[in-house]
Amino acid sequence: GWLEGDVAVVTGAGSGLGRALVDRFVAEGARVVAFDRSAERVSAVEAQHRDTVVGVVGDVTVPADNEVAVAQAISSFGRLDVFVGNAGLFDYGARLVDTPIEALAHGFDELFAVNVKGYLLGVKAAAEALGESGGSVVLTASLASRNAGVGGAVYTASKHAVVGLVEQLALELAPTVRVNAVAPGFMRTDIRGPGALGQADRTLASMPDLDELARVVLPLAVLPEPAAYTGHYVQLASRANAAATTGTVVDCDGGFSVRGMPLPPAP
Ligand code: NAD
Repeated sequence: GWLEGDVAVVTGAGSGLGRALVDRFVAEGARVVAFDRSAERVSAVEAQHRDTVVGVVGDVTVPADNEVAVAQAISSFGRLDVFVGNAGLFDYGARLVDTPIEALAHGFDELFAVNVKGYLLGVKAAAEALGESGGSVVLTASLASRNAGVGGAVYTASKHAVVGLVEQLALELAPTVRVNAVAPGFMRTDIRGPGALGQADRTLASMPDLDELARVVLPLAVLPEPAAYTGHYVQLASRANAAATTGTVVDCDGGFSVRGMPLPPAP
């Protein structure tokens, strides 16, 4: 595998894309600390990968929990090569004009705490160990890191902020640690929204028209499984494949951003 002997921390590792990343990193030869706030999900990942995954139950918005996750990588596996910031909340396209101002204020705090502060604290906690190994950071950005109209203003701003983190931290952590992101398109996952926006129990998985949406807006016309995105993380994390790459965001949006007008039928 491309990550033979490497050790990674993955946040939001219990579900959706994070879960797929744990499976793929293990398949590529890595050992993984699976960090998630759901104890049941952490147990399930550990049970599937007995020798290669250690779980940490914690909250990415809490500084000390990020330090515990990094310390677990060192104590269980002796090193840290990759920090994958991935835990996130969506806002289900909540419109500014339809959202009461108090809900907007609290929803912003809740979502930015996970999507932006969580990444910042994770990189902060991991930076020293990554410096020792000459490792790298890969963050989960989004289709909404470059496009309006996918989320609402809160989510879109948070994912644009991830691009800012990648660029600034790539500069600050060079020359020893590379910092990049992957910007996935739609996936059918359990992603939740802020409680303050009334979205704590909403999930994309429960939206029946997601496949139809993909057929209409994506030139590639299919809704990818989370696993479809994991190869980009492996490539960016791999010293052999990405030694010259830092400060970049790899877009994997099914062609969304170039869809333009439908092409006329061939004559
Ligand atoms: P998911 O909800 O299926 O998985 C996220 C995991 O993160 C869950 O297991 C959850 O328990 C955990 N988590 C949430 N808040 C946490 C916290 N504060 N501390 C620790 N763990 C926490 O969602 P997903 O769709 O796999 O999302 C993963 C990433 O992918 C997010 O950054 C999301 O913005 C991004 N993304 C998702 C889509 C999509 O269509 N689903 C598209 C583009 C980008």
